[in-house]
Amino acid sequence: MINESRLLAQFLEYVQISSPSRSEGAMAQRAAAELAAMGLAVQTDRAGETFGSDGFNVLARLPGEGESILLAAHLDTVSPGQGIEPVIEVGVITSRGETVLGGDDKSGVCAILEAVRALQESGAAHRPAEILFTVGEECGLCGAKALDAGQLQSRTGFIFDASGSVGRVVTAAPGQLKLRAVVHGRSAHAGNAPEAGVSAIQVMAKAIAAMNLLRIDAETTCNIGSIHADFATNIVPDRTEIVAEVRSRDAEKMYAQAEHMRTCLQRACDEGGARLEYAQEVSYLSYSHEETAKPVRMAVGALERIGCAPVLQAGGGGSDANILNQKGLSCVVLGTGMTDVHTTKESITVRNLCDSTRLAYALLTGE
Ligand SMILES: [Zn+2]
Repeated sequence: MINESRLLAQFLEYVQISSPSRSEGAMAQRAAAELAAMGLAVQTDRAGETFGSDGFNVLARLPGEGESILLAAHLDTVSPGQGIEPVIEVGVITSRGETVLGGDDKSGVCAILEAVRALQESGAAHRPAEILFTVGEECGLCGAKALDAGQLQSRTGFIFDASGSVGRVVTAAPGQLKLRAVVHGRSAHAGNAPEAGVSAIQVMAKAIAAMNLLRIDAETTCNIGSIHADFATNIVPDRTEIVAEVRSRDAEKMYAQAEHMRTCLQRACDEGGARLEYAQEVSYLSYSHEETAKPVRMAVGALERIGCAPVLQAGGGGSDANILNQKGLSCVVLGTGMTDVHTTKESITVRNLCDSTRLAYALLTGE
């Protein structure tokens, strides 16, 4: 069965291998070597080249009987993630406080590895599995985007990468669209001839004031994250730029919100005599699974077998699951027990690490 001290030792080792996004090379090599040492066929790719990383995706195959499933986690962490020093106090693991812990997502990586090891030792019957460790998840799901999903045999996947206790199953997540808009006004001397100018700041301000922002409805949000114009006070500013995101679990609502913002910008530009430069790009699409969908049913069954109460929820963020669902795999994201992710207070309990491992084991051995 699961070897708790081996699991913990590996987790502590892995969080100390620095792997902020775009610098996952050492971590990817370590994970690939581990899987190979376990006797699995390991494949790597050149995903890192697509986003300026020295890392790569790692895919390994565990032979078995029945229908293959995908178990996945990501190798990169957010910053500050260099020189992480883990501390354990009464069963709770944190960093020393200057960095994140990196349990996001090394908790997922280690749970999957220990489950496979325990399975190999037990000799229990199990289904075949594909183990996928991606890079660049935190900087835009880059590794998953670059992955050649055509080589995957699994049609159902489980991503060990959600905060919240083991039991949480993220069955739906929003898609995200990014937009960038530049208002081009006309510069003029602000003291001598301000009427000859068109203030891009003023036009942008009117456009933004007319927008519905933040919480749009139960499944749609929108936020302007940056606004930029920097001129001397004696110059009427001729350029102001914003960057914003729209998220929705409904793709049509996502596009509708972006269109609303573009309309507000265009109207303000028309009224103020400015020109609009506008671009939008879909970062990833939403997904949503019914309770009867295969990955949900399998996750619920496995959780019940290990005595953890399943909690089905819609998530608010993007993950590799958005990309893998888009690429044709039916995937859900599973809670690994990590809390306060993306902060220096990040923590995880040893108990949750063990429960995640038992969950991975149950998925591999269950019906
Ligand atoms: Zn993560």
